[in-house]
Amino acid sequence: MAFLLHRLRLPCLRATCSSAHPVKVSLRPSPQTAINRSVLPAVGHITLRTTQPSCRDFHTSPRRSALPPVAWVVIRAVAQIGSIIGGRTLRKRWQNLSDHEKKGVKTHLWKNKWFVGTVGSAFVLAVIIDLATHFQETPITHRKRYIAFTEEQLKQIVDFEFKMIMEDVKDNVVPATNAVYGLLVKVAQRIVDNNQDIDLLQRQKWTLIVVDSPEENAFVLPTGQIFVYTGIMKSVKTESQLAFMLSHELAHVILNHTAEKISTCQLIDKMIILLLAMLWFFIPTDGIAVITQAFFKKVVDLMLHLPYSRALETEADEVGLQLVAKACYDVRQSSVFWNVMALQSELPGQEGQIPEWLSTHPNHENRASRLDELIPEAIELRNKCKCLRLPDKDPRDEVAMLRQMAKAAVQPSAS
Ligand SMILES: [Zn+2]
Repeated sequence: MAFLLHRLRLPCLRATCSSAHPVKVSLRPSPQTAINRSVLPAVGHITLRTTQPSCRDFHTSPRRSALPPVAWVVIRAVAQIGSIIGGRTLRKRWQNLSDHEKKGVKTHLWKNKWFVGTVGSAFVLAVIIDLATHFQETPITHRKRYIAFTEEQLKQIVDFEFKMIMEDVKDNVVPATNAVYGLLVKVAQRIVDNNQDIDLLQRQKWTLIVVDSPEENAFVLPTGQIFVYTGIMKSVKTESQLAFMLSHELAHVILNHTAEKISTCQLIDKMIILLLAMLWFFIPTDGIAVITQAFFKKVVDLMLHLPYSRALETEADEVGLQLVAKACYDVRQSSVFWNVMALQSELPGQEGQIPEWLSTHPNHENRASRLDELIPEAIELRNKCKCLRLPDKDPRDEVAMLRQMAKAAVQPSAS
């Protein structure tokens, strides 16, 4: 599925850049924008990612025409098996027909072509209506996308997920008196306070949960629970980088990426069910059909799910950059952050990055490059928000030098 993200449009024209410098950091949150100093625990499995569910293991409850996710998991499995059996049965029957009988079937279909055409058209129309009535526009980036869930339904889903996460990490949650916790609250509050134009950011009740763990991990639930593992702090070198990391997570919530991803997965599942029946009907033997089905699933992952996931990550980076710009952070540190992550992944003993085309996330270098393209606009936005001028020394130069040194260190041993 081609997924076209709109180019980042910095919203300064309509933004109330409320953060005229010097930025005032409010540690006394208003009732609506409070970062809840919760002492709750949390876990996650992804580095710098939201807990966006995969199509296979996330349970949700739907809106209007969408099927409840828990029910959908069962229905999907039954429907997929049914479509395979149905397609295969029809093929076997067709193969067992004599030439005369096959001709009779074709003649019968041709005689009833208007009925067949009407049924087919009604199906296509139903699909178009479903898509048309569930399309929404993302805030900020103004991208059209399919959403089949209401906010309330998503909340019910995520509440369950949240309880499970808490159960896992409850013994490792750091208290609100912890220094890391204090820093994170300060940074998150500054971002929220200085992006007053983003309604959801203000309406959302945010809860910060810091987990004492060496794991380098940070993520957010769509209902506003931000989880940060203390291990991630090793990769964060400045407050601006920390702000960018948090902003990326906040952006996932603002853009409602989780609901979008679940909805899209469900839509793709429905198409797969239909295609499986056709595949098992038209492929002449069971053996070839099994191989084709496995190949087909891999293609769906590589061509649809993974690029789609990467597009959402890129969008969260872009919007996150705007959030930190309006909060008067050094936006250049966003690029530094990903370049440093890239360098770290190349260190001896590290596993390195998996190829981007096999990953749910863009690789670190590409994220840095994309941010580099957007940084001039982000600096402009910063200026419009009357932030202090950035230091002349660009922190990206230092990383570029480190990269050159790393290359130089590798080249002699390679020759
Ligand atoms: Zn992410």
